Amino acid sequence: MSERIEIIAGDITRQNVDAIVNAANCSLLGGGGVDGAIHRAAGPELLAECRSLNGCETGKAKITRGYRLPAKFVIHTPGPVWHGGSRGEEALLASCYRSCLELASANGCRTIDFPSISTGVYHFPLEKASRIAVGVIAGYLAEHPEIERARMVCFDGRTEEHYKKALAELEVRL
Ligand code: ADP
Repeated sequence: MSERIEIIAGDITRQNVDAIVNAANCSLLGGGGVDGAIHRAAGPELLAECRSLNGCETGKAKITRGYRLPAKFVIHTPGPVWHGGSRGEEALLASCYRSCLELASANGCRTIDFPSISTGVYHFPLEKASRIAVGVIAGYLAEHPEIERARMVCFDGRTEEHYKKALAELEVRL
């Protein structure tokens, strides 16, 4: 199933897919980084829908429409803040990816794009995060043929290199 996973460089707000994932915070009311970029590109209707959702717990996910984005849906997931690894951060990050994929399936999405959740201002180590992400995505896709393609959309070269390496390592093990 790993040929259905792709790592690309780019801006997630420009992707024409069924769903893009937002690395949100628990308020779901917008923030910096990719969250700010998604809200700016989607327009104020996105914030209005997010206000009606009453926030979201870390590791869970909620779905909205995409409004002015090319993507049909936005799946919002608050990633864990890295505190050194002793507060369940790895399991919570895995839960983010799994929850988003489950919502994508439940809403008929066949293509989904992820940003690198938690590795910006939340400081999750990139090497660990990339292994968790590709591991969860590959496991899910193996069981769920309805998802045709999942991509990691990387905003900088260092992030792209880590996810490419994690995917290559996974392919060796499969
Ligand atoms: P978090 O709070 O979950 O750490 P950030 O938004 O700070 O979220 O960072 C997550 C990742 O998203 C980082 O790798 C950052 O470079 C990246 N990013 C920022 N803007 C975009 C964008 N427009 N498209 C894709 N990735 C982005």
